[in-house]
Parts: sequence; structure tokens; C-alpha cells
Amino acid sequence: MAIGNWLGSALLALGLMSTAQAATIEAGDLEQLDLNGHISLLEDAGRAMDIDEARIAQGYAPAPGGRTSFGFTESAWWVRVPLRNSADTPRELVLRQDYPLIDKIDLWVVRDGVVASHIATGDRLPFDTRAIDHRDFLFPLTLPARSETTLYLRLQTDGAMNIGLSLHRPITLLSRLSLEQLAFGLYFGGFFVLIFYNLFIFLAVRDRPFLFYLLYATSYGLYFGIHDGLSFQFLWPDHPDWANTSLLVMLTLTLTFGLLFTRSFLDGPRLAPRLDRAASALQALSILALLASFLVPYRVLIAPVAYLTLAATVVILAMGILGLLRRQVSARYFMIAWAVLLAGVLVYMCKTFGWLPHNALTQNAFQIGSLLEMMLLSLALAHRVRELSHQSRTDALTQLVNRRAFDETVEREFDRRRKSHVAIALLVADVDHFKQVNDRHGHAYGDKVLRRIADVLRECVDGRDMVGRYGGEEFAVLFPGLDASAAAARAEQIRQAVQERVGDHSPVTISIGVASTDDGGIDSPNALFRAADEALYRAKDRGRNRVVGYAEALPESSPAG
Ligand code: GH3
Ligand code: MG
Ligand code: MG
Repeated sequence: MAIGNWLGSALLALGLMSTAQAATIEAGDLEQLDLNGHISLLEDAGRAMDIDEARIAQGYAPAPGGRTSFGFTESAWWVRVPLRNSADTPRELVLRQDYPLIDKIDLWVVRDGVVASHIATGDRLPFDTRAIDHRDFLFPLTLPARSETTLYLRLQTDGAMNIGLSLHRPITLLSRLSLEQLAFGLYFGGFFVLIFYNLFIFLAVRDRPFLFYLLYATSYGLYFGIHDGLSFQFLWPDHPDWANTSLLVMLTLTLTFGLLFTRSFLDGPRLAPRLDRAASALQALSILALLASFLVPYRVLIAPVAYLTLAATVVILAMGILGLLRRQVSARYFMIAWAVLLAGVLVYMCKTFGWLPHNALTQNAFQIGSLLEMMLLSLALAHRVRELSHQSRTDALTQLVNRRAFDETVEREFDRRRKSHVAIALLVADVDHFKQVNDRHGHAYGDKVLRRIADVLRECVDGRDMVGRYGGEEFAVLFPGLDASAAAARAEQIRQAVQERVGDHSPVTISIGVASTDDGGIDSPNALFRAADEALYRAKDRGRNRVVGYAEALPESSPAG
């Protein structure tokens, strides 16, 4: 921005030296015209001139190189637009100023040497000072038949001075505006959907990153709404002071919530404690800037806030890259989202330097990038929900499904069986004398044994069977489609495999109880579990390291070795 300002001033100085007068614009058959190449500009450094002085002032010069962005300026800017209607009929036109954040904008229509009309508006005045209800400044004009008119505009603002004037036939402007409004509707509609969608998910899962995302997206969306002039029009048209303060408020809120979101989403304190502390310091500064924005003028605060934004971006990206290096899956989604936003910023910058053509896409690349970022972050959150639900169904030690998930599967299989009348068998295994294993070799070794048993179980079952950790040292296996004797045979294989392969010091063994729905009297998941438990109890009772079937008729294996 600073370079742009400097360049603008230099070009302006060159322009002021030329004495070329902007030619009178023939408006009789005009459809629409970008005025930037056609206007004359005068800088009023003291902001002291009135219209009478401005009309006779010398030194109007064409906009240098068509550039009409002056950054932050203490001056007021006068614009002169000479118009002629050579036609035999009056001409209706609309003058548009295509940057809504101008504090004060005045238009005088001068005809036959007198001021025919004067409109004073700007975003420091209530919204209803505008002739047309629109986010931009639109001034309706009527040029009488065979007449000459000179427009004088005065613009003054504490923010960035962007002058973007154009003339339109009302009908032409209408179709253009309806397209623009559609694009805005899509854009802010996207924000609405993302915010509400994630609000509902937050209400369901109560996971903090969702809350911070919501606040981040809301302040981000409002920031762009303010930037586009829509918030003033629709949200607080009677509060011009707030309309001006709100831009910095939303920017600092966006920073605060963006940092909060990043820290909670990437688990900052655990991922990178020092970066996380830096992020929380920036957060504190953002809140300070937020409070300051109610007291300190925009002009003073915007530079520190710009540096703060830059610092926050660096810290956020550093955290994301660190997450990538540590192979955090969430960091992958996070960085894709940020890459898209940065690509938008890059396109916008290339347009500013003239390396890319100026069109609706490049002009709004930053804004478009921000919506895409929000969409991708929402996707990242959706992935997080999947991850959380996976975690809630998985046992952390063995990575087997946990008891809750196992119970659900048994319920589901029971429902299916009711339709197809195929048997289901259940195996419940308990480690023998595991307390002693722990006592002798330590808890860590006990954990290792449990993981080894889980591995053996996984290897011993096929695709449609399911293994779960059912309790501390209890495992369960569901065999859909197996009758009691087939299940008992499989259980015996498992018992032997554990005895052969588990235990660094001495072999670790398990006792197994087996039950099947064809055992009779078993008509619910509960009954099946009770039957298998009863069989397990008997296996323990008869000396452990053996398989016992619920039906007495089942063959029993005897302790091996
Ligand atoms: P039994 O043959 O009768 O089953 O004897 P046991 O010692 O295996 O049975 P008990 O139920 O008395 O003890 C189970 C032990 O399993 C007690 C508990 O400390 C241990 N345990 C439970 N969960 C874990 C775990 O996740 N890791 C480790 N290392 N030990 C566990
Ligand atoms: Mg045990
Ligand atoms: Mg036990």
C-alpha cells in the first residue's frame, strides 16, 4: 500500500504539471463511461475551500495515469466533470462513486453559471442522506436538452481515498447492479450457510474450535460487509459513527478469533508452546487495538493494526507448517485453506502491480479467497468431527473398537439376523492372572501384553468378524454367520495363538467363553453376552487357559502344554 501511495503522489505531481484540460464529455448518447480518464482533480490541502472558490480555482489536472487512489490523505479532493447533452431530448444519468467508505462526499451540479443542486452525503452521515438506497454512492442526474453542465465533487475521508467515478444510463446500471447484487448474495450467502451449519454442529458436539470458527467467520463476514458498504445500508443505517468504527473493530475481532481458532484447532499449546505464547500475545494486542478503535482515530490505528495482521499471519502460518511437519492431519486441511486465501491475496497484488488484468475476479480475489478459506476450514472441521467420532469408538491402547462401538455392532447384527435367520456367535476372552503379570513386570509391560493380544486377535479373524476391547483385560469377538461349534473351533485357534505368541517372560494365556444364537434361548444381544460370560466364568472355574461353550454339549479343550 505504501509503495502504491508514493507512486500515486509522484504520478499526481507529474499530472499537475501538465496543463491539459479534461475534454467535455458528450452525454447525449452515453450508455456507461468509466470517468477516471476524463476527470480533473484538485487537491485542497487545508480542506478549507468552498464551492465558490473551487469553481474559480486554477490547477485542476487530469487524474494521473487514470490513477485515483491516494491512500491516507489529510486533503480534501475536488473533482470536476464537464458534461454536454447535444441531443434534443433531456438525458437521465446516474453518477456512481464505486468505493463506499468515504467520510464526506458532496456533489454540486452547476449549469448556466449557477449551482442548480447540491447533495451532501458520505458514510459519516446517516444512510438516508443518499438519493438512492445503495451500498455505493449513486447520484441521479438530469441533463436538459442541448445543455452544458459541470459537476463538482468534493471528497474527504480519514481512511483510504479511492475515487472511482462512472456515469451510467439508469437502464444499463440496473442490469449491472442486479448482477453485482447476485454476486454479493452468493458471497454473503456462503458465509451465512457456513456460520449456521457450523453453529448447529457446535450445538451438537460442543467442541471449542467450532465456536472460534463461528466467531471468526462472523467477524470476517461482517468486515467484508462493512468494506463493501452493505453493513451500513442494511445493519446500522442510522449509526454512521459506528459504521466507521466497526471496520477496525471487525478487523481486530477477526484477528483475535482467527488466532483463537488456530490455537485450538491445531492444539497450539501441545504442538508449539512458544509459538502458542506468541499467538496469545498477539491476541492480547488485538484486543487492545479493538478497545483503542473506540478512542483513537482510524488514521492513527490502521498502521499498527496492519503490522499486527502481518504478524498474526506469520504466526498462524508458522503453526500450520509446524503441524504439517509433525504430520498432523488437521494441519493439512488448515494449510490448504490458508494457501487458497494467500493465493487470493497474491492475485489481488498482481492486479495492483498490473501483472494481471483488472476484472471482477482479480479485483475481488482477496474477498473471494476469504470465502474459499472459510469453506475449506469448515471442511477441516467436518474432518475433525469424523476424527472425534472415530476416537470415541476406538480404544486408545489397542486401537480396537471399544465397548460402546462393539455393543452397537452387536445390536446391528442382531437386527440383520432377525431378517435372514443366520446364526451369530460371540466370544468373550479374559487374560489369566493378569494382575500377577502387572505386579511382576510392571504396568507398562501389562499394556504391551494387551497390545500383543489385540494383534493376535486381529490376525486370527476375517473381514466380517469384529474384535473389540470389552474391558480392562477382556476382549470380545463377534462372528456373524457362525454356529456354536464353528465358533468354538475358532476360539480354540485363538487361545493357542495367544499362548504361543504372547509374553516375553512366560507365556500369557486367556480363557474364552463362547455362545451362539443357535444355542437356544438366546434372542437378544444381552442374552448372548450373558451366555458367553457364563461360559467364560466356567472356563476360569475349570482351571483357565481353555475354551468353554455355553451349551454343555460343546467339546472342551484341555490346557495345552
Ligand atoms: P483372572 O485370571 O481371574 O482373570 O485374574 P486376573 O488377575 O486377570 O483378574 P482381575 O480382574 O483380578 O485383574 C485384572 C487386572 O487387569 C487388574 C488391572 O490392574 C489390570 N488391568 C486392567 N486394565 C489394564 C490396562 O489397561 N493395562 C494394564 N497394564 N493392566 C490393566
Ligand atoms: Mg483376568
Ligand atoms: Mg477381568
